[in-house]
Amino acid sequence: MSRRPFVAGNWKMHKTAAEAAEFVGRLAARLPAEVDVALCPPFTALAEAAAAAAGLRIAIYAQNMHQAASGAYTGEISAEMILDTGAQGVLLGHSERRQLFGETDEGVNAKLAVAHEAGLWAIVAVGETEAEREAGETERVLRRQVEGALCDIGSDRVAETTIAYEPVWAIGTGRTATPAMAQAAHAEIRAILAELYGDEAAEAVRIQYGGSVKPDNAAGLFSEDEIDGGLIGGASLTVEDFSAILAAAVP
Ligand code: PEP
Repeated sequence: MSRRPFVAGNWKMHKTAAEAAEFVGRLAARLPAEVDVALCPPFTALAEAAAAAAGLRIAIYAQNMHQAASGAYTGEISAEMILDTGAQGVLLGHSERRQLFGETDEGVNAKLAVAHEAGLWAIVAVGETEAEREAGETERVLRRQVEGALCDIGSDRVAETTIAYEPVWAIGTGRTATPAMAQAAHAEIRAILAELYGDEAAEAVRIQYGGSVKPDNAAGLFSEDEIDGGLIGGASLTVEDFSAILAAAVP
């Protein structure tokens, strides 16, 4: 199966609403037709980014959400609130959420079920720490995270979910996995998906690579057949770098 490349920019805690809208406006002229594109602005910029992206081929994703529909969850927002901004998707289980905010596989799973139910697209991030890789535990960690996040999600829904493989040691560090290392991890993830959900669903899932992807290393990573695009942090903050990475994803 040939999967359409999918590149998403995770802005983390960067950009005001006005900056987000300006970015979308400038990116509009540089969207390759062959690549699906998403941006993940902070909550405060979702509505303006979504308004600016209306009619363009740029999907807007939140960076997190709460699984409850409403209630006493100070600081959180629900799937319905994300949809209310005009955004279409949500990024779940980013390693910063896991490491800094105690996000668990069970929590990611609960959020994913609610996101699907609400009609939000989802990117689920997984990846091992440096210590886990050095201890030879990469496959065990990826299996735990993938099984945990996708538990009880039907195979049709799994096929629509994007997985982002993001080795924690490569995020924001300038150290990137080699294309061969990333390809091997992606193949492992796809094998786990095939075991759990069958070949058809596994083949449909897009697996992005994330971790210090830059304009000068993107083409090498994206040329691997198991790498279906990227989740880009730092290099998604400028239109120049991000659009160069989009261009590198054109098959
Ligand atoms: C990320 O935040 O998901 C990420 C991959 O960051 P960076 O590209 O800066 O390593």
